[in-house]
Amino acid sequence: MKCVICRTGETEYGKTTVTLQRESTVVLIKDVPAQICRNCGEYYLDEPVAAHVYAEAEKAVERRVEVEILRCAA
Ligand SMILES: [Zn+2]
Repeated sequence: MKCVICRTGETEYGKTTVTLQRESTVVLIKDVPAQICRNCGEYYLDEPVAAHVYAEAEKAVERRVEVEILRCAA
């Protein structure tokens, strides 16, 4: 698909690191499968992957950790 951020790049499947911040918790999730723009590096998550990532982030927020580094198993 075409990247909606830079409007010139094409995306391709790869792995990326997703960083989410909520309140004082920062969650880093490595090896997340995503479509990544070859031009600007913007990534797009498929719906089930995004749901998984957000669920993991919520758990980290509940544990009240400041920084959590996870590896995506999806
Ligand atoms: Zn782009």
